[in-house]
Amino acid sequence: TRTPVNVTVTGAAGQIGYALLFRIASGHLLGADVPVNLRLLEIPQGLKAAEGTAMELDDCAFPLLRNITITADPAEGFNGANVALLVGARPRTAGMERGDLLAANGGIFGPQGKAINDNAADDIKVLVVGNPANTNALIAQRNAPDVPAERFTAMTRLDHNRAIAQLAKKAGVTVNDIKKLTIWGNHSATQYPDIFHAEVAGKNAAELIADQNWLEGDFIPTVAKRGAAIIDARGASSAASAANAAIDHVHTWVNGTAEGDWTSMGIVSDGSYGVPAGIISSFPVTTKDGKFEIVQGLEISDFSRARIDASVAELVEERDAVAELGLI
Ligand code: NDP
Repeated sequence: TRTPVNVTVTGAAGQIGYALLFRIASGHLLGADVPVNLRLLEIPQGLKAAEGTAMELDDCAFPLLRNITITADPAEGFNGANVALLVGARPRTAGMERGDLLAANGGIFGPQGKAINDNAADDIKVLVVGNPANTNALIAQRNAPDVPAERFTAMTRLDHNRAIAQLAKKAGVTVNDIKKLTIWGNHSATQYPDIFHAEVAGKNAAELIADQNWLEGDFIPTVAKRGAAIIDARGASSAASAANAAIDHVHTWVNGTAEGDWTSMGIVSDGSYGVPAGIISSFPVTTKDGKFEIVQGLEISDFSRARIDASVAELVEERDAVAELGLI
């Protein structure tokens, strides 16, 4: 029998955590043959609700779920962690300046990065979901000098999945026919969903659709503002789709992208496509054997260049702001 994989989830008592934990425990994160131990990390106020979730997890009698640890201590929460999903974050509240938001999150992701550095397993893989995800991931990564930088990633898979769904609808096909879509940049309203290399049933998506008004006036803003549209409709922010994207991100990272396709991940830039090295930005990547590589050699049009540059400029500003605050 296989050794259980230790999966840590922060913000485990939150909305996304509630949508995430049952799918991890039922084998959707790592595979139907991989047993898991769950480590639920919460702030003290969240512990009681996390215990309630753990009771429900017990009550599912999931065959793959071995044990559950609930703690407010990052050292215990990340002890031996093989996969860490950093979901808990300080949300932006009315009247909060960006500097306040970054400082509050630095107080969470700095110590978590250190705790990962000191306690996690050697093969630790980290996905940051909590916003501002790219910069929170950067803070954690810089506070974990002994962990290879490429193990820290930020989630743009929800944006990627949203873009696939919108493109499939427009083209009148199922999502299975969409390949090679890319989200570039920051997980924010400046992100750039790129269909110029995407394929619809094997044909180039931009050539097939050939509708610049739709691209600029509908597709790009719909994908970028989807979170706000869901809050408006549901009266609460997206949770199940965010959890689903987190599952997809890690599953793809561990199990590989399909031949002839790629995915989007926020990763530490190596300078590819003119994105300054060191920032955590979304790229097209292929994955294999638990490692990823940036898809190289894509031609970037002026239209795409301007949008990638704008999102990357925002990430550079965020990096400079957290550097100024002494968080990295
Ligand atoms: P959610 O579970 O709804 O969201 C958690 C985080 O995910 C937020 O930062 C949110 O950002 C982000 N997020 C990223 N993508 C999405 C998306 N597509 N849709 C919605 N959210 C997205 O928040 P809750 O308030 O329900 O729960 C947060 C939990 O985290 C609480 O239980 C709290 O106690 C805990 N917490 C734990 C910490 C720790 O372990 N140290 C630290 C801080 C909080 P955004 O707000 O921008 O939507």
